[in-house]
Amino acid sequence: KLRAAEATRRKLHNTIQELRGNIRVFARVRPFLPGDGDADARKPAVEPGADGVSLALAGEAEGAPRSPTRGGEHDKRRPRKRETYAYDRVFGPEVGQEEVFGEVSEFVQSALDGYQVCLLSYGQTGSGKTHTMQGAGSGPMRGIIPRAMEQVAAYCAQQRTRGWAYEMEVTYVEIYNEQVRDLLGEDAGAPTTRDFGRAEAQSGLEVRRDPKTGRVFVDGATRRPIDPADAAAVDALVACAARHRCVASTEMNAVSSRSHAVFTLHLTGTNAERRARLRGALHLVDLAGSERLDRSHAQGQRLKEAQSINKSLSALAGVFASLNAKRSHVPYRDSRLTFLLQPALSGDGKTLLFVNLSPTAASANESLCSLRFAKQVNQVELGKATRAVETV
Ligand code: ADP
Ligand code: MG
Repeated sequence: KLRAAEATRRKLHNTIQELRGNIRVFARVRPFLPGDGDADARKPAVEPGADGVSLALAGEAEGAPRSPTRGGEHDKRRPRKRETYAYDRVFGPEVGQEEVFGEVSEFVQSALDGYQVCLLSYGQTGSGKTHTMQGAGSGPMRGIIPRAMEQVAAYCAQQRTRGWAYEMEVTYVEIYNEQVRDLLGEDAGAPTTRDFGRAEAQSGLEVRRDPKTGRVFVDGATRRPIDPADAAAVDALVACAARHRCVASTEMNAVSSRSHAVFTLHLTGTNAERRARLRGALHLVDLAGSERLDRSHAQGQRLKEAQSINKSLSALAGVFASLNAKRSHVPYRDSRLTFLLQPALSGDGKTLLFVNLSPTAASANESLCSLRFAKQVNQVELGKATRAVETV
């Protein structure tokens, strides 16, 4: 009986998912870490539950809607307010990389089937974005990038026996200060922490759209042919890109990622016998920290940087808001990031947004912002995706 009920629930869930189109939001709450503070601070402010992520706010949160009946004096004595946000999936701190990937693999499969697919990790610095996308090492802590490549390798090996041949290339770029930079270039031998003055002087790469095919690409980015079955080559590629990412100190975190890193697997599958060719793309995006400016007291170069980072993130929010409202104009061109991801973020593509959250009370206000951003994304409906299958 229980099993039948579960099957019915699943079926209903799948139907709802189909109606909702091609955009999903998964929330992931990371565990407490040694640096998070003493035992007193260990009462989680963000908690995953069956019906969503609940957030405890001490008194009135900054930016929270104010009720006229709430007097300022009472606020201090009032118990912590709890709000719950529902998403497609919620992963608690105990959920490991393998289990998370289990829920992601259908998106990887879509790219193999010829769709434009985009996975994004969103959240404040230290919330687990890089852990989710890239992970650590080649063991059980490895993240979505290496696991996706393993899945691609396994599937392609199987399809080769059915007459399919594949061409695969990876591009890996960074968008920093609205400038696009190659992370795989020969001369990308810069140190981990860059000289930002010099970095700014470099001219960025351009994102372009081929008017004939509608494909969007970074002009001049290194396209590295890759055999996804070669795990060592995949690791080397990720390590190379990680060395070249821009990092800078802020008061909020010793090392904070201030740039968006976009890993893209471009794949073309051809079947001569069936005279078919399909082209898919899988974008795996580790976004810059979403923390607001005021908390890191950024000034000068940092301030300019923060505004540019916000430009791409607010453009992303703007795209989702327009999709949400079903507006005829969606402002993909407002930032490099949204322009590059346009095919995946439009009705023709598939998108999965991870909202990464820290459980600490100190991060509650940032978590609130992330939960609200993700809620808006969760309400977006994209149309039915189309895949690129050509006759050759
Ligand atoms: P971000 O990229 O958002 O700044 P990181 O991915 O670097 O954050 O995560 C911050 C720290 O928390 C890292 O030390 C990372 O290993 C750890 N961490 C994040 N998420 C998890 C998790 N789900 N399980 C275990 N450790 C995690
Ligand atoms: Mg990171």
